[in-house]
Amino acid sequence: MDKMKPLPDDLLSRYQAWRDGTFAEKQQDYEDLAENGQKPPYMVISCCDSRVNPTEIFGAAAGDMFIHRNIANLVPPYAPDGDHYGTSAAIEYAVLALKVESLIVIGHSQCGGVQACHDLCSQENPPVKSAFEFVGPYLDILRPAYGRIDSTKPEAEQVVDLGHQGVIHSLENLLSFPFVAEAVAEGRLSLHGAWHDIGTGTLYTLDPDSGNFTKP
Ligand SMILES: [Zn+2]
Repeated sequence: MDKMKPLPDDLLSRYQAWRDGTFAEKQQDYEDLAENGQKPPYMVISCCDSRVNPTEIFGAAAGDMFIHRNIANLVPPYAPDGDHYGTSAAIEYAVLALKVESLIVIGHSQCGGVQACHDLCSQENPPVKSAFEFVGPYLDILRPAYGRIDSTKPEAEQVVDLGHQGVIHSLENLLSFPFVAEAVAEGRLSLHGAWHDIGTGTLYTLDPDSGNFTKP
């Protein structure tokens, strides 16, 4: 344990403020959640990006949302091969144990993961290849979406399009999980896509008929 340190003072003081403020006001809610367990109606899959904050966007309280975050909000294809799939495990638990009613994949603007995948697909030697051991291979999940974008557009537009297509690709991969497909077919689970513009605070939602992301 000699390599580890106590929490930074800044976080300790923020925690104390939360404990004395928000927690004190909602203590009964927390006690109920502790006693009765969680029953969140929603699962959200969003990016690790610190600027994306699903609980804030939706005004969610503790117990409302089962949230899984990873780089570029990616769902891998169903692959029951014994490997360590954190995302797949979270989805399985949410659908089979928690029985969430809605599963929402949220992408976002200025996503470093989406940009890195674009670099990987469009450049000979992108920096992400030499600088990182895990990020490049992980972003292979997103590569099929690159084939759906118009590579003659300006790069900034391509990256936005790749982010949108990445959300759609993740939703399609969700349906490759038999227990997700079954829950959707039986009407117990609905799948949704959204894309958050950080600077304007706009949440675009996926219109399943057109495949476009539009303002609600
Ligand atoms: Zn991101």
